[in-house]
Amino acid sequence: MTQKGFYGDFGGSFVPKEIQTLLNELEDIFEKYRKDDEFLKEYHYYLTDYAGRETPLYFAESLTNYLGGAKIYLKREDLNHLGSHKLNNVLGQILLAKRMGKTRVIAETGAGQHGVATAAAAAKFGMACDVYMGAEDVKRQRLNVFRMEMMGARVHAVEAGTATLKEAVDAAFAAWMADLDAFYVLGSAVGPHPYPSIVHEFQKIISEESRQQILDKEGRLPDAVIACVGGGSNAIGAFSEYITDNSVTLIGVEAAGHGVDTEKHAATMTKGSVGIIDGMKTFALFEKDGSVAPVYSISAGLDYPGVGPEHAFLKENGRVEYVSATDDEAVQALLLLSKMEGIIPAIESSHALAEAIKRAPYMSKDQIIIVNLSGRGDKDVASIADYLENK
Ligand SMILES: *Cc1c(COP(=O)(O)O)cnc(C)c1O
Repeated sequence: MTQKGFYGDFGGSFVPKEIQTLLNELEDIFEKYRKDDEFLKEYHYYLTDYAGRETPLYFAESLTNYLGGAKIYLKREDLNHLGSHKLNNVLGQILLAKRMGKTRVIAETGAGQHGVATAAAAAKFGMACDVYMGAEDVKRQRLNVFRMEMMGARVHAVEAGTATLKEAVDAAFAAWMADLDAFYVLGSAVGPHPYPSIVHEFQKIISEESRQQILDKEGRLPDAVIACVGGGSNAIGAFSEYITDNSVTLIGVEAAGHGVDTEKHAATMTKGSVGIIDGMKTFALFEKDGSVAPVYSISAGLDYPGVGPEHAFLKENGRVEYVSATDDEAVQALLLLSKMEGIIPAIESSHALAEAIKRAPYMSKDQIIIVNLSGRGDKDVASIADYLENK
C-alpha cells in the first residue's frame, strides 16, 4: 500500500461520515490484532480444526496428460469447510467482531457462498445474522439459501435493479446504516479501506500454503498461478505470496459471459474504466451517464461490476495479467475436470481452469501451473444442467 488506504491511485474510502467512524474503529482493531499472537493462534485453530486446512495442492495428472503440456496443480479450496475459500476470510472477520463485542453481523452474498460461510460462523459464535442476496441469485442458488436458513440466518431477497450482487451490496450497506452497532462481514477484497486489506490478510493463507507445498513437491516455484476474479478475494489470496517472485506469472480471469464484445459480461478490468463504486476508487463497468452498468455471468460469484482496488493496481503496474473466459469456456472446463479427475469445480473456479486449459498445451512438460480451485460445484449442478439443455 502506497498511502493509507490506497494501492497506487486505487482504493481509499468514499463513504458517509457515520460509516467512516466505524471504518476507523475497524482499522484500529485490525491493526491491533493482525500480528497479535493470541488472535492468530485462535484464527489458525479454527482454520485447522473447523475449516479443515491446510487444503491439498493436488497434481491433476489425468488432466495434465490429456492436455499434453505444463503440469497442472489444483489448490483445493473446494475442500475447505462449506465448499469454498470464503470461510478463511469470514473466520478472521468474525474473530475481529468478537473482539469488538459485536452480537449481530450483516453480509451481502452473490452465489451464496459468502452468506453460507457467514451464517456458519455467526451460528458458531452465537451472533445474529442477516444476509442480503439479489432475488435473481436467490432463485439460481436455492440450495445455499436453505443452508443459510438452517444455520439460523435471515436471508433477505433484494428485488431492485438486476437483482444480483450489486443490489445486494447496496441493501446490506443500507441495513448497516440503520444499525451501526452491527458488524459488516465483507465477502471480497472490495469496498472502502480497510476491508480490501483485511480480506487480503485473511486470504493470503492460500498462497502461504501453496508456495510451501509446491516447493516440497517440485523443489521450485510454479511458472504460473491462475485464479478467477469476481471482487478478487480468492485471486489476491492465491497471488499474495508470489507477488515479489518475478519468475511467477500471475493471471486473473474475469467472466466474459456471452463475450466481452456483447452487452452481457462482467469483464470489469478488460472493459471497464476508473471510477467510484461501493466506497472505493477502482475499475468498474459504467454506463455513459456514469451509473453502474448491469453485468452478467453464468456464475453468480463473478457477476459484479467492480473489482478490488489492489487488482486495479496490479493491472496498472503490470504485475498481474487479466484475461477473461466466456460462459461456454467455463462450462466446458467444468465438464472436462469432472470427467478427467472426478472433481466438479464451482462455475467461478472453472473460469480459471479454462485459462489453464488454453495455456497448458503451449507450455513444456516441465513447466508448472497452479490453478486456484476456489470452490466446489455442487451448488451449480442444476444451472449447468439448464445451460446444457437450453444450448
Ligand atoms: C465468491 C466466489 C468467487 C468470487 O469471489 P472472489 O472474491 O473474486 O474470490 C469465486 N469462486 C467461488 C467458489 C466463490 O464462492
